Amino acid sequence: ASGLSVADVMRTLMGMGMMVNINADIDFETAELLATEHDLDIELKAAESLEQELITEIEETADAPDTLVARPPVVTFLGHVDHGKTSLLDHLVGINVVKGEAGGITQHIRAYKIEKDGRAVTFVDTPGHEAFTEMRARGANVTDIAVLVVAADDGIMPQTEEAISHAKAAEVPIVVAMNKIDLEGVDPNRVMTQLTEHQLTPSEWGGDVEIVRTSATQGIGMDELLDTLLTIAELNEYSANPNRSALGVCLESEQQGDRGVVAKLIVQNGTLRVGDILVCGPAHGRVRAMQDTLTGKPITEAGPSTPVSLMGLDTPPGAGDRFHVLKDISQAREIASAREGESSRQSLSGITTKVSFDSFQEMLEDGKLGESADTVKLNLIIRADARGSLEAIDKELSKFDHPEVEIRVLQRSVGGISLADATLASASDAVILGFNVIPDDKARSLAEERGVEIRRYDVIYKLTDDIRALIEGRLKPEE
Ligand code: GDP
Repeated sequence: ASGLSVADVMRTLMGMGMMVNINADIDFETAELLATEHDLDIELKAAESLEQELITEIEETADAPDTLVARPPVVTFLGHVDHGKTSLLDHLVGINVVKGEAGGITQHIRAYKIEKDGRAVTFVDTPGHEAFTEMRARGANVTDIAVLVVAADDGIMPQTEEAISHAKAAEVPIVVAMNKIDLEGVDPNRVMTQLTEHQLTPSEWGGDVEIVRTSATQGIGMDELLDTLLTIAELNEYSANPNRSALGVCLESEQQGDRGVVAKLIVQNGTLRVGDILVCGPAHGRVRAMQDTLTGKPITEAGPSTPVSLMGLDTPPGAGDRFHVLKDISQAREIASAREGESSRQSLSGITTKVSFDSFQEMLEDGKLGESADTVKLNLIIRADARGSLEAIDKELSKFDHPEVEIRVLQRSVGGISLADATLASASDAVILGFNVIPDDKARSLAEERGVEIRRYDVIYKLTDDIRALIEGRLKPEE
């Protein structure tokens, strides 16, 4: 990146009395000398350590228990297309997007905070479970509770199944909105049976999943849905410290003519204020103005779980980029530009998943298991050519009983290995097993980029042999 040839560098170093070879790492001091010699700017390297110092510190500073107060739950809708996610959210927040959003930004991810009887809930609506999981893969766990929307007439559809896997992998409580209950002839019992088959047993049947019957078009069940969410929030005691500088996540952003960059951010901790200095992914700037995402009204500060439209960043950050408030604009600029350099070198650095059969085996060998009573989880995503194969694989896997290893199948489904599978694997440290199926191009390249392991099989016993060898610690590296 410096524009120096290796030969130049070697010549200089040798001139400084150093013996080097092409692969040697040079230390900071030497780099500084080199830079002076060649009149180079080594700000980038310094900024990377600034990032380490400042951002890591912010991220790792824990809030003392007495600084924590309750914050609104952040709720995400997931479900099959056309089952009513958009309509439910519209009804809950009292708007109708179909009628147009004058002046608003093109909304892919909608996020609104609403209040009921003085208690707030924040809703985030992603375009699909893939976007939901992609944010998780980037370390942006914004969701506290998932609402699974299932239309009572259709019941559980393939995308509902995927949404269930993604919500379960995120390990958040799931509430079911059984929507379109107003339609003639729908059978709630059929849907509840299906849910039970997917390990979501309704509380009215003795399980732990709340099922709320809703009609987004008739406004049925809306209060009950809100009450259910607020009760879960109370039980889980979601909290944050409003008296620290803000941090959170960018949901989406865009460049808007004369308004400049408009970014939709959600504050996860602390309070964000107009005038604050912000670094968000490769972007930085001073908060010029903020608006409520629902009303568009200007606001001067935003506390935990509050989504805002923010102006003042120099360039649009990406969905899932984390933001931090810093004291010094020049530090923010340095960190942002170092990241920009970083991202042009490697597009998705920092989210490489290290989980593979090999790393799992290393964990076993390191004796990490012995130290704690915890079991090690082996997360799997299974794709197969037919239902029958999935059932056979399930049956075989259920025979494994190892005191220290828990096999968790995050998702099992029929069909080729998709981008959503690779995203889920990357976000959840899972290995993908394909039985008589192959990954498509997008899945393959994402898996490669993030170090997600995809193993393919054509006979069941080979698959189970591998798993057995793996948990018994004697798997051979793949051919
Ligand atoms: P999404 O794709 O999950 O966001 O679904 P939408 O909210 O766009 O709804 C899809 C269609 O179902 C639209 O035509 C809605 O009017 C209709 N719809 C949504 N909720 C209900 C409901 O509770 N009852 C009835 N009868 N129709 C609904």
